[in-house]
Amino acid sequence: MKPFRLSPAFKDYIWGGSKLKSAYFKDTPFDKTAESWELSCHKNGESTVVGGEFHGQTLSAVISEFQENGIDIVGKNAAQFDRFPVLIKLIDAKADLSVQVHPDDTYAMKHENGSYGKTEVWYVVEAEPGAKLVYGLNQDMTKEAFLSAVQNNTLTEYLNFVPAKPGDVFFVKSGTIHAIGAGLFICEIQQNSDTTYRVYDWGRTGADGKPRELHVEKAADVSCLAKEIKTDFTPKLLSQKNGVEIYEVASCKYFTAKKYTSHAEVTLKTTQNSFSSVTFLSGEGTIQAGGERFPFRKGDTFFFAAQEAEILVSGACAFLETTV
Ligand SMILES: [Zn+2]
Repeated sequence: MKPFRLSPAFKDYIWGGSKLKSAYFKDTPFDKTAESWELSCHKNGESTVVGGEFHGQTLSAVISEFQENGIDIVGKNAAQFDRFPVLIKLIDAKADLSVQVHPDDTYAMKHENGSYGKTEVWYVVEAEPGAKLVYGLNQDMTKEAFLSAVQNNTLTEYLNFVPAKPGDVFFVKSGTIHAIGAGLFICEIQQNSDTTYRVYDWGRTGADGKPRELHVEKAADVSCLAKEIKTDFTPKLLSQKNGVEIYEVASCKYFTAKKYTSHAEVTLKTTQNSFSSVTFLSGEGTIQAGGERFPFRKGDTFFFAAQEAEILVSGACAFLETTV
């Protein structure tokens, strides 16, 4: 089966920048683009297929069409989920994102109309000097102390600010208070959910001139209020041979992600267990799959069906591969 080249949905949140257009070749309608939803079957912004017989259709429609014909292109491992489990974004943070937290599945199912919770992982693609982010708290807090810190505008004193550099990986489990900081360009792999509880917005206003809504009570319900102890965000090197380095980015119930750095050529294998999604972060070249060649350059995302097959990636490049 041929791979599907995907076209993303774009989001123009107030903190976005211009890199998606200027450096990642994205055909975005916005002057400032915060996010491109590269691999998405979420109703708030679906990916569509580019080229071939499915051109212009949403990925979710294509998945359903194959399913109706008895072909599962998502793979066996995702059968445990009642919908497509993953959402992959490129995020250009020109300014700080709000301090926020996401619920887990149990809480979201109950309080957000059957929606999924959100565990996410950030792979830092670019970081301006001095760029930092918020990853958990710098001390233990009680729920009362948390609520009063939000009320008194002193929450920043309790946030765990961490410097971030290209190649760093931050696994943000649901319940972890977090914020992507200004000057970071990130590839985020997350559960297929759009549920965010905002707790602090740096005293700024939204596009309409009013402060953006906060969700403090729900945030207090779901937040982990223990001090964050993780300090090393370097991904584990899994293998290094023939000019190809492979790093572990994430491995959890919802997704597995690896980062590849290839100096010339690398072969990926897909199986019936899972689809494979590849997002290129740098470089350019060609992909050979399904008996055809497809050019790629940084910023491109492809979806490969769950089947026994090989994909040859030629050209010096770096990319993230995500499976379930
Ligand atoms: Zn988040």
